[in-house]
Amino acid sequence: MIAAPVQSLGLAAPGQGALAGGPQPLRGVLREAEPMDRHVSWRAGGIARVFYQPADVADLQSFLATRPASERVLFVGLGSNLLVRDGGFDGAVVFTHHALTGLRAAGELGTRRTFVAGAGVPAPHLARFVARHDCEGGEWLAGIPGTLGGALAMNAGCYGGETWSHVVDVTTVDRAGTLRLRTGADYEVGYRHVARRGPGDEWFVAGTFAFTPGSKDAAMARMKALLEKRVASQPLSRPNAGSVFRNPDGDHAARLIEACGLKGRRIGAAEVSAKHANFIVNTGGAKASDIEALIEEVRAVVREKTGVALIPEVRIVGAKEAANG
Ligand SMILES: Cc1cc2nc3c(=O)[nH]c(=O)nc-3n(C[C@H](O)[C@H](O)[C@H](O)COP(=O)(O)OP(=O)(O)OC[C@H]3O[C@@H](n4cnc5c(N)ncnc54)[C@H](O)[C@@H]3O)c2cc1C
Repeated sequence: MIAAPVQSLGLAAPGQGALAGGPQPLRGVLREAEPMDRHVSWRAGGIARVFYQPADVADLQSFLATRPASERVLFVGLGSNLLVRDGGFDGAVVFTHHALTGLRAAGELGTRRTFVAGAGVPAPHLARFVARHDCEGGEWLAGIPGTLGGALAMNAGCYGGETWSHVVDVTTVDRAGTLRLRTGADYEVGYRHVARRGPGDEWFVAGTFAFTPGSKDAAMARMKALLEKRVASQPLSRPNAGSVFRNPDGDHAARLIEACGLKGRRIGAAEVSAKHANFIVNTGGAKASDIEALIEEVRAVVREKTGVALIPEVRIVGAKEAANG
């Protein structure tokens, strides 16, 4: 199926749903041995064997189609919810930020207005774009320091808003470079949880999102208030990945961690923030192993003292030790 939203962004030409003419010469940025600490907000972690920043969706299709079928692929947006272990990622990392960046007002769907955005668009850009187009309901996206691809993968949300409650459709690409148009019905979506119903890997390249018409000034004012609240409550001056754990039913992970006396607990240069107990900050030069060990320690202590098994929200990938030492 040809994915119309992607075409409407000028990210792919008609007929490229199935890479009809075969893979084309690559036009993106290809590097080897890319340090991942440059690309994740924790500023820690190992090396990715292959780095690829596609020129556009068609180029991404060609890249995927020409990689060995056995190679592992990881999509990365702004790395604000991700840790690559110190031993690195033995595969290809596709960077969408600065790559899949189209954004436009699309039309109307019932009483709502729709917007098409590439997966590499930062969530705060969509929040401001939606408000400037006299719509409300997207203000919460201003507080998510990641891309829309990452927000779709995580069902990111805050202050009552959630990514998938705005999704009309998404365009995905698979391992062979084929584009597909999908809807929420193709996914099992929950709190910080998204899983496609069906086999095989697919990644997001774009989405169509719907918002309610309203007041631009009210939306802008809410965004400002929301960001002020974040600055007051979150340790944003030190590298972090937002909330480390999902909130358990009817409670808050931060409350449990604080109640267990874990604020300020340290392993190496990783520390449970004194400002917000569900944040782990890199106080300078933390290894991924420091951060992961602290996550495990917090889980173990909270489980022992409260009986609650916290589930990490952050994604941890890669090897603990490099394959060749
Ligand atoms: C200060 C701070 C505050 C935060 N506050 C919140 C909050 O309030 N609510 C909230 O939900 N999150 C929050 N986060 C976490 C994070 O910003 C979100 O999860 C965000 O959606 C991740 O987007 P990203 O582009 O950085 O994803 P990445 O960290 O790059 O990736 C996260 C996961 O998504 C996958 N992924 C990325 N792009 C794609 C794609 N195109 N297709 C398929 N999979 C993909 C990655 O493989 C990985 O598994 C916060 C983080 C920080 C640092």
